[in-house]
Amino acid sequence: MSTSDRWTTPAHEALRASEGFRLADFDPTGKPGWDGKSKHADAHLAQQGVLLSGLQERLFAEGRSDGKRSVLLVLQGMDTSGKGGVVRHVVGMVDPQGVQLTAFGVPTEEERKHPYLWRIENALPQPGKLGVFDRSHYEDVLVVRVHKLVPPKVWGARYDEINEFEARVVASGTTIVKVALMVSSAEQKKRLRERLERPDKYWKYNPGDLDERLLWPKYAEAYQAVFDRTSTDVAPWFVVPADRKWYARLAVTELLTHAFKGLDLGWPPADFDVAAEMARLDAQQP
Ligand code: AMP
Ligand code: MG
Repeated sequence: MSTSDRWTTPAHEALRASEGFRLADFDPTGKPGWDGKSKHADAHLAQQGVLLSGLQERLFAEGRSDGKRSVLLVLQGMDTSGKGGVVRHVVGMVDPQGVQLTAFGVPTEEERKHPYLWRIENALPQPGKLGVFDRSHYEDVLVVRVHKLVPPKVWGARYDEINEFEARVVASGTTIVKVALMVSSAEQKKRLRERLERPDKYWKYNPGDLDERLLWPKYAEAYQAVFDRTSTDVAPWFVVPADRKWYARLAVTELLTHAFKGLDLGWPPADFDVAAEMARLDAQQP
């Protein structure tokens, strides 16, 4: 790895959706803040993974010792944007014991009997865990809005509801990292073609994905509204260009590592007399 591989602007600054963010001006092929070469990305990712994994182990240990804190990674993005790849290649670098992963699909019959946040609330990470949402409550203002599954008044009220919900979750000790993976329409077309060309990718293909593509402008509008209305100080959005998979994975790793660092994690102190236990152990047979 070269020493020139680095973040010139921290990912959490370069990617944050602040006031005035315009998706229409966003470049899905970009690599904001990153000055390194793609050929070194894997090595850098592995190195950062070691750091992330160490931090996550501290959080897990804290959870085992009465800690209440947790981290929640919310992943949103169109089909083929690389949500699954982030789960495999970024989240996959930490100890699976400490991970609580939930993928949200079309609500089940049981889920439809409850308010939309019910299944989300149930999946929130336990203390000490890294929760990961592959899709989330944001589908309830994205696919639901685009397909008019509920009246505008209903989805319109959800932005404030979501902000209140997330503020409550954060106040209870969960750090929320919201990541939107933004792939270009051209790159999505390429990735869908690959799914049709490769038998090992058929399982990822859904004929409905092509119908969704036709609604791209509507989704862009819905995503813009999400960034305008739910990128709050307690739970901001990070918009990650996803045309280069290596960059997206590097960026999410950096965002997660930053969130963990913010927790100022240490190792929980012993709740027993270390010297006395050592003496007892020494007194026992080899
Ligand atoms: P995938 O992530 O490819 O497994 O697809 C999951 C599908 O479930 C996507 O088409 C989502 O739009 C859809 N989905 C997720 N949440 C909801 C929701 N609340 N209402 C309707 N469809 C949803
Ligand atoms: Mg899909």
